Amino acid sequence: MIILQRTEDMTQWSREQRARGKRIGFVPTMGFLHPGHLSLVEFAKIQGRCSQTVMSIFVNPTQFGPNEDFEKYPRDFERDRKLAEQAGIDALFYPAADDMYEKFARTFVEVEGMGKVMCGVTRPTHFRGVTTVVNKLLNIVEPHVAVFGQKDAQQFLIIKRMVQDLFMPVEVLMAPIVRENDGLAMSSRNVYLNPNERKDAVCLSQALNIAQAMIAHGETHSTRLTDAMRMHIEKHASARIDYIAIVDTENLLPILQIQKSSLIALAVYIGKTRLIDNIIIS
Ligand code: AMP
Repeated sequence: MIILQRTEDMTQWSREQRARGKRIGFVPTMGFLHPGHLSLVEFAKIQGRCSQTVMSIFVNPTQFGPNEDFEKYPRDFERDRKLAEQAGIDALFYPAADDMYEKFARTFVEVEGMGKVMCGVTRPTHFRGVTTVVNKLLNIVEPHVAVFGQKDAQQFLIIKRMVQDLFMPVEVLMAPIVRENDGLAMSSRNVYLNPNERKDAVCLSQALNIAQAMIAHGETHSTRLTDAMRMHIEKHASARIDYIAIVDTENLLPILQIQKSSLIALAVYIGKTRLIDNIIIS
């Protein structure tokens, strides 16, 4: 595995691979890798969409709000390097913040509307930071295919919109959520949870399971589904709901009744840690 830090070295590597007829699959991450991240690499390979894989590790400052966890976000490059190598990554891109955002940088990319709902209500500048950095990364890496996790479904749908709107020459794929044995969606932020919070954290996936079971029994009303989810989560002492949303996957607008391609998503504070989870009904 080659480690590349400079943006121009990354681009040069990709262009050499392309010249040799290779297809490049790209997995952007913020590091502190867990099996959820590594599953994205497998997903790209299994789909047969690429012959070379690039992973980036970059804790992107512009997607954190002023009072968020940018400083304390878990980082361990040595550990990540080993895990990436074991996962069979060909190139690990590990840029410096000053390179990604040089002193006079002024350009942001924003998908209007979709970034202001759901997670965008409590994190109003988050998705602008995500779309900006993903745009930069795609321009630097020039992959044929980029893989994102359903764990961040709103992020994926916004990136897909951006790629389509800007005619970006890349295929974007969404890989399924990888969960702990009890159902908690894997996340680098799970390390913040103390043992009691860790127990309560399972209420997110349990609430989604409750909604899914109700839908299987014919329930379609969004309010009845969200009420049942809310009731379940509120039984957990350390849980405080940020939002529960049932929306159309195309535009993230709320829907009154479940329809084909609905996203049920939620964000819940467990103690001070904000966790997200979702299911897509299709
Ligand atoms: P992050 O490092 O949190 O920015 O995540 C990098 C990528 O990994 C994003 O596309 C996430 O959606 C994806 N990801 C994070 N956690 C999971 C998970 N539990 N299952 C699947 N994908 C995930």
